[in-house]
Formats: sequence, structure tokens, C-alpha cells
Amino acid sequence: MSVAAVTQLEAAALREIRQVQTPEALELLRVKYLGHKGDLTLILRGLKDLDPELRRQVGREANQAKAALETALAQALAALKAAARRAAAAEIDVTLPGRRPPLGRLHPITRTMQEICDIFLHLGFEAVEGPEVELDWYNFEALNLPPDHPARDMQDTFYFSDQVLLRTHTSPMQIRTMEQRRPPVRIIAPGRVYRRDSDLTHTPMFHQVEGLLVDKGITFADLKGTLTTFVHQMFGPEIGVRFRPSYFPFTEPSAEVDIECVICRGEGCRVCKVTGWLEILGSGMVHPAVFEAVGYDPEEFTGFAFGLGVERVAMLKYGIDDLRLFFDNDLRFLRQF
Ligand SMILES: [Zn+2]
Repeated sequence: MSVAAVTQLEAAALREIRQVQTPEALELLRVKYLGHKGDLTLILRGLKDLDPELRRQVGREANQAKAALETALAQALAALKAAARRAAAAEIDVTLPGRRPPLGRLHPITRTMQEICDIFLHLGFEAVEGPEVELDWYNFEALNLPPDHPARDMQDTFYFSDQVLLRTHTSPMQIRTMEQRRPPVRIIAPGRVYRRDSDLTHTPMFHQVEGLLVDKGITFADLKGTLTTFVHQMFGPEIGVRFRPSYFPFTEPSAEVDIECVICRGEGCRVCKVTGWLEILGSGMVHPAVFEAVGYDPEEFTGFAFGLGVERVAMLKYGIDDLRLFFDNDLRFLRQF
């Protein structure tokens, strides 16, 4: 046994370790050199039989070789594992279909509101939005509803104080807009409104889209033409429309707009209470008192206004018979849209 033999053994082992391709082959090498009956192990075990001087030299060399082999084996194993990870990553099948993220949907109310607005925007109206907490002036007084007006009873109002309330309709935006502009005015006001009402067909919060058109020479014929166009675009060109005299404090004359029942097509059913007609819109020519409140001369300008409930339109359009479904957030309901 000599120092040179140990050096040769170490060099041969390192060469073999460098050529290894798999962790299994590496383990065989470890056993071959460092195992219980490994070549280097046998050398170390045989040291006791050598002369003291040779034992010292060979022993030092053999222990250095053992450390070098252990280091080389550990490094080779790490390198093989890293290569295996890279290979696994490269094997991802890019032709597999991806996992689809669950798609959200627009709430039927949002969707109906957008449909309504789209129709009027294409007719040349502009959408305006404003505060839901409103002053009495904008919600009532400027709309020809002074404090003692009996028609205030038509709208059960949430009050914060004498002068501050939750708007009961989006009509305040008509006043706010006319205060800031001169005619022509062509606006729609979509948004949430609030009334103290809660039963099968009423919720304390609901959605409205109101409209206002003011210019010189606007007549009831313009009102009829605009709203008939809207109904036909919303419910289909074959749906019948009728204008029925009505009363609103802020319009004169006023008319409610009915459409032919979308369920029975005028035959008469439970939804239309066997009349064949469904009320869908309130409308009328803007009352001169409203123009005076915003500084428009009623002799110079005329206009019409209208308002409709979004929930009602959505119920008729999609055949929904319970208003509460809109606000229960039951996914089985919402996923149908
Ligand atoms: Zn009907």
C-alpha cells in the first residue's frame, strides 16, 4: 500500500463520479468506494497493518481522499436533481386546454339599466349622475311640490332632517342640470332611489332612469315618438304602445305609457290583471312652474320628461315574477343571465 495508490484511486473515483447520469448510478459508486466493503474503506481499515511512518502518510492521504469523494458525491447528486427538475418543467404540455377562471356576470338590474341607457344615448341623450342624499329643494320644491303639496304623500320619503333626504326619484338631476345649462337639454338620469315601501312588489331601494328634453318648439308628439321608439327597441317592434292620461306634479299634461302585455300579447293574463296592458313609464310635458324654478322662460322653451323603474322593465323583459329575487343574491338565479 502506497500514497500513490491512494491518489490513483481518488482520481479514478472522481472521474467516474463526473460521468454518472443517474442518482442510482451515483449511489452504486458511493458503495463501491465508501461503502462497508468499499475500496477506500478497506484501505483505511488496513492502515493498522502498515509501518508507523507509512501508516501516517497513507492515512493522511486516504482521509483527504474520503473527504474529497464525499464532497464530489454530494455535488453530483445536487446537480442531477436540478437537471431532473428542469427536465420535468420542460415536459409541460402547452397544447392542453387552459383552466377557465369562473366568469362573472352582470346583475340583471345593471344589465337592464345599461340596455335602457344605450337606447337613449343612441337617440342623442346624455347620461348624468348625482347625489343620492338630496336636498328637499331638488327632490320636491323645485319640481312643483311645495311643502304642503298633497302629492308628497305619493312618495314615502326617508328624511335625515327637514331639508335633507334620500332622493325618491332621479328627477333632482333634471333641476341640477337645468340650473347649470341653457337649452337644448337632452339628458337621462340613471340611479338608485329610495322610498319607505316594502312588500311583494316594492323594495325600499330601487332603480330609475329618468329623461328630460328641453328646447324651443318641443311638443307632445316628440314625447310620443321618443318613448314609442324606446319601447320598440326594448321589447320589440311588434309590441303595442298606448298613452293614458295621468297626473304628476311636475308635468302638464301627463301620461302613463302602457305596453301590450309581453306575457299574453294582449289576450289577458294574471300578470296584466286580464287587461292586456302593462304600465311601464310615467311621462309628460314639463310644468311651467319647474321651468320658472330654474330660470327658464316657459314662453320660450318647452320640453318633456319621463321616468321608468328599471326593476319593472327587467321583470317584464326576462319574465321574472318576484321582485325580491333581484336582491337575494342567489347565484342559481343570477347565473341565468
Ligand atoms: Zn297579460
